[in-house]
Amino acid sequence: MPAAPPPPEKMMFQLSLRRRGISDQAVLRAMDEVPRDAFVEPELRDEAWRDTALPIACGQTISQPFVVAYMTEQLQLRPEHRVLEIGTGSGYQAAILSRLSRSVLTLERFKTLAERARARLSALHCDNVEVVVGDGFAVPASAGLFDRIMVTAAMEAVPETLIARLDRDGVLIAPVGPRDGTQTLLRIRNAPGGIERKELVAVRFVPALPGLAREL
Ligand code: SAH
Repeated sequence: MPAAPPPPEKMMFQLSLRRRGISDQAVLRAMDEVPRDAFVEPELRDEAWRDTALPIACGQTISQPFVVAYMTEQLQLRPEHRVLEIGTGSGYQAAILSRLSRSVLTLERFKTLAERARARLSALHCDNVEVVVGDGFAVPASAGLFDRIMVTAAMEAVPETLIARLDRDGVLIAPVGPRDGTQTLLRIRNAPGGIERKELVAVRFVPALPGLAREL
């Protein structure tokens, strides 16, 4: 495990999250406890505490910490929740979710990313996370229902098959919009009166692509 970063860097990390409006104490604590530098390539460790997205393997990115904290806060997690994440990437977001919920199933279309994320999460004892190679556009009904779903890759539209995986009063958050542009973070709630949709903020994510990756 990498050594703890020097206090000033970590203090700035927390400070910038607070300054940008993250106020949920449980979310701030999770962001404090999960070492982001363990989820990036060794040569980028020094950059890990900056509030920026960084490249990971397979041409993908680990999201910006503020966006991770914001999406987590908007998900309104409770300790009993069963959570589905689409787009494991580095596994960082899954580690944050794991501290705030009962269990996390996270799907990734690249085998390499899934394997590396699994190793990192197990080294950090995130034992309630299951990493599976799978396609977020084709989650089977046999996966069951989830209290919360977080999509961390941009979709042109949220597939109905995914919304159908929401339990009663379940909440889904996804960046929705064109591949090469700005997307809108959409919050979808399976409310008693029907599906409710709310647009949150503008974001930029790598695209969600259908099917498993042909390369590793
Ligand atoms: N949550 C990640 C960041 C994800 S980047 C983290 O914390 O590091 C988006 C990820 O979604 C990429 O790894 C990409 O391969 C994956 N992805 C894209 N389309 C997908 C799909 N249809 N199913 C599953 N994963 C997908």
